[in-house]
Amino acid sequence: MAYVALYRKYRPRRFADMVGQEHITRVLKRQIETGQTAHAYLFCGARGTGKTSAAKILARAMNCLNPVDGEPCGTCAVCAMGDEALSTDILEIDAASNNGVDEIRDLRDKINFAPTVCRYKVYIIDEVHMLSTGAFNALLKTLEEPPAHAKFILATTEAGKIPATILSRCQRFDFKRIPQPLIEGYLKTVLDDLGVQYEERAVAAIAAAAEGGMRDALSILDQCVALGGELRYQGVVETIGTLDQSAMDRLVEDLRDGRVDRALAQVEEAYLAGKDLSLVLRDLMSAFCSRMTTAAEKKQPLEFYLRAIDLLSQGETAMRFSQRPRTALLAAIARIALVSRDDSVDGLVARVARLEDMIHRGWTVSASDQTDEPLWTEKAPSDAPEVPFGDPPVDAPPWDQEPPLPSDLPPWEEKEPARAVQEKKPALREEAKPVSSGQASRPEPSSGKESDRYQRFLELIRSRSVPAYHTLRFGTLMDDRENSVIIEFDKKGHVMAQALRIPSNAKIVEEALKEVYGPEAKISYVDAPEGAGEELPPLVEKAKSAFGADVIITD
Ligand SMILES: [Zn+2]
Repeated sequence: MAYVALYRKYRPRRFADMVGQEHITRVLKRQIETGQTAHAYLFCGARGTGKTSAAKILARAMNCLNPVDGEPCGTCAVCAMGDEALSTDILEIDAASNNGVDEIRDLRDKINFAPTVCRYKVYIIDEVHMLSTGAFNALLKTLEEPPAHAKFILATTEAGKIPATILSRCQRFDFKRIPQPLIEGYLKTVLDDLGVQYEERAVAAIAAAAEGGMRDALSILDQCVALGGELRYQGVVETIGTLDQSAMDRLVEDLRDGRVDRALAQVEEAYLAGKDLSLVLRDLMSAFCSRMTTAAEKKQPLEFYLRAIDLLSQGETAMRFSQRPRTALLAAIARIALVSRDDSVDGLVARVARLEDMIHRGWTVSASDQTDEPLWTEKAPSDAPEVPFGDPPVDAPPWDQEPPLPSDLPPWEEKEPARAVQEKKPALREEAKPVSSGQASRPEPSSGKESDRYQRFLELIRSRSVPAYHTLRFGTLMDDRENSVIIEFDKKGHVMAQALRIPSNAKIVEEALKEVYGPEAKISYVDAPEGAGEELPPLVEKAKSAFGADVIITD
């Protein structure tokens, strides 16, 4: 017997077999039951979501002699006939094909002839948005005054291209993309039916790649099953031609942390391995998209992800029209990795967002985590004006200060704590610079010299967390009598006060506070009066003039 593609073999024959479109099948079944079907339907939705299948079932249900619960019965004389035998009464027209216009003209000529075996002549017109203006006009004439025996089911992926005159004469149904779990469930049913063993994540990978279309899911499955044997994740990834999950995660991390060389090398490697670069881009975009969704749920900054998706969209367009799509993708990748050095307004917003993201992620390092190399070089005694975080000299760009990676470390090693610490350093320097420079000129504490107790308190914190210590040093001690420590932060230091409130820092501060000032002691961070800070550094001024101060430092 000839090979039948899976999506044909498993095409639903009843509304109940359709997956993920219950909001539509429920209404259609009700119409069949009550005999109140419309003259013309418009089925809209993404490819492979079941529009044509629903149209075929509806056409058969309308003509079934004894419909059962709104479904074709499957046993009556009409239901028993094959598609071929019914083809004079249930006509399928592909508007995207060359002879689409001819078929519409033909339709007009023959529509008045009564159906030969069925009650209704049903015209299923696929990709109806592809019709020419002339063909639309011809169709409109028949839709305006259809004979009682004629029914139309128009299907389209682009409802926006259908003339309003046609739309207004149709009952419209919007097909949803099918949720991934439903596709997975259906694929497993098919695999069980075929007697093929499978890995769960292999099925999940197919469902994800299908992007809500069951037909695509079954087509991919078809190719994968053709390999023979058990359905394995690795085989699926190779068939689809994209990166596997761990490679994709690595690429996203590299981009987020600005490791441009590694990100480019990964894409180059994928290209040499024969991966489909447009799929790599698509998957990368959905990876950023899902991280953005997670960040939104956690009320974390989104700007970096937005910027990355933006740059990938531009890259996608460039790839489509470029003779060298690989170059276009590499350029987009480099731009994302370099967002941290991007001085455009969008870039500045993304950079501020990354700084906030780092604070949210809690960039404290406990004393025991420290390597032999000091994390941040202190250039001055703690009570003298200091440059926090060991800012590089102004004449050297911050990225020139980046320490070399330890040479004995393989580039794919992700979990090594010492390197994680080192990698944060350049980013922190660079990101923290706008809010930290100018720190030396902060006003003297109103209570004069810092008390010995406060000095001890600071030293204790420094011994436990150098970053927490430096963060606290952004503030000015206003008062520490009565076991109540009040520290003031000016506008520039506001974000540092935020950093001190994240749980890991707050715990260190609280513990040191109780040890030095006693168990009842309280600490509060207050904002300096308006205008207390010095003029803002140029980078922040630039962003401020574009957005207003609220955008620069948000809660
Ligand atoms: Zn029937």
